[in-house]
Amino acid sequence: MVLLLFGPPGCGKGTQAPLIQERLGIPAISTGDMLRRESERQSSMGKLIDGLLADGRLVPDAIVNRLLEARLAEPDCADGFLIDGYPRTVDQATHLSDVLESLAYPKPLLVHMDVPEPLLIGRLSARWNCPGCGAIYNVLSKPPIESGLCDVDRTRLTQRRDDTVATAHRRLKAYREVTDPVLGFYDAAGGGKVVHIDGNQTPDLVFEEIKQALEVHVRVPVRKRR
Ligand code: AMP
Repeated sequence: MVLLLFGPPGCGKGTQAPLIQERLGIPAISTGDMLRRESERQSSMGKLIDGLLADGRLVPDAIVNRLLEARLAEPDCADGFLIDGYPRTVDQATHLSDVLESLAYPKPLLVHMDVPEPLLIGRLSARWNCPGCGAIYNVLSKPPIESGLCDVDRTRLTQRRDDTVATAHRRLKAYREVTDPVLGFYDAAGGGKVVHIDGNQTPDLVFEEIKQALEVHVRVPVRKRR
């Protein structure tokens, strides 16, 4: 099973990915997380990526495609995987189709989490993350129990550099202009199935909708929560 979590920045992909990972027992791969790790390296590629992330610009396809291809070749992906944040361009979608075909994976199910654009800037600038366990909070809609501290491990929460209002506008523009056409690629070229989910609901309700879509389209039993 190959799942693609797709939608604009701030639509809730990073919140849903670990829930799906836990229920289905497949690895959740985030190209954003992979690139943030690369950006910490002091190599010339690390520095290039660092500058692009800070500006809210997309990293070139050749770099992201190479990193993703290497990750998909790891043994834990053999029974399927979930990707959050890729493909973000039609070139990446084409590349992914070739890679999936060469590795004999089925066509993907793309889960499109739709949230009206005017809500996204507010969501992004209110987002705080736990650097310890990766939990995501929103000071307006899902605040931590104790201000500034993670509910799970009490690590001090931080904000991503690219969650500022100015950078968020640039990321949304990139989504509109370059990423949104990827939906057309899947619809038109038969690259896989597309389901549309209303992302403007509580995370629990969004997850319910995703679960129903998985049961219909992927025909896998969804595990009971432990
Ligand atoms: P995310 O964590 O998914 O919000 O991604 C954070 C940033 O990483 C994005 O704003 C881009 O700069 C970069 N990025 C993540 N995934 C991709 C991708 N598939 N293609 C190009 N850039 C990406």
